[in-house]
Amino acid sequence: MIIRTIMIQDPPIVHVKDKLVEVIKKINTRGIGRVIVVNNSIEGIISTRDMLTFVVERCENGCGRGDIYSLIDKEVSKIMTPRPVYAFDDDDVMEALTLMVARNFGALPVLNSEKKVTGIVTEREMLLVFQELEPLFSVKKFMTKKVSTIYEEVPVFDAVKLMIRRGFRRLPVVNDENKVTGIITAADALKLFVKAVMKGDPDMFFSRKVKEEATKEILTIDPEKSVNEAAATMLLKKVGSLLILNSDNTPAGIITERDLIIALHYQLHLKSS
Ligand code: AMP
Repeated sequence: MIIRTIMIQDPPIVHVKDKLVEVIKKINTRGIGRVIVVNNSIEGIISTRDMLTFVVERCENGCGRGDIYSLIDKEVSKIMTPRPVYAFDDDDVMEALTLMVARNFGALPVLNSEKKVTGIVTEREMLLVFQELEPLFSVKKFMTKKVSTIYEEVPVFDAVKLMIRRGFRRLPVVNDENKVTGIITAADALKLFVKAVMKGDPDMFFSRKVKEEATKEILTIDPEKSVNEAAATMLLKKVGSLLILNSDNTPAGIITERDLIIALHYQLHLKSS
């Protein structure tokens, strides 16, 4: 199977001279979590996490309106990751998958033979490959058992700092009995940031509580179910993770798209060896 058959065509793209405000708008409207930066050909890539890290580093002790505006007025070239690794549209999916797993990339820009950006492939598209495979492995084998959570009454900004520190894109939200009441993602936090910027009210970003911004619908999976079923559920529900809960609703595990592409790589590798 070649990448062209699964990639997202019409990927989110900004020009190297564009401002960061364009990046956050694109991340928000497209919901892909990454934006490709071009000049004549590819120059860089910026992720939701890069954007949030940038804000956290500059606003550790609070940011006023002026600070926020000057922050989003910066050129994308200032914070993009330059010379990103990419794939060609006629590369094999397995090659791209190996790159994503080995180098810990959540997405790869896709170029045609003239080196023009024609697509992007993310963990989400990779999950489609599971549809063709027999269910060999359980969720239990690939989930993370030690779950980092966030208390529902703390500011979203604290959740963002924790996500960045730990390198996760999401945190289950818990009440004072450690029962899960929702989930908050890096994408939710960036959405709140955009809303605060658009309203000219940066305080909204720094003072909103986790429980006000979290998704209350909790999607779970039985750890004995297959990773193939987890992939199908994530694709169907358009989410990047599923939770494994104990009978009293306290967290017992989390499985994300990243865990699933590791499982996929493992299974495909077994098949070819
Ligand atoms: P993510 O970037 O959120 O897809 O997560 C990357 C890795 O961290 C995966 O192995 C996840 O299982 C794990 N992970 C994600 N969120 C959490 C969390 N809140 N607590 C513990 N592990 C997590």
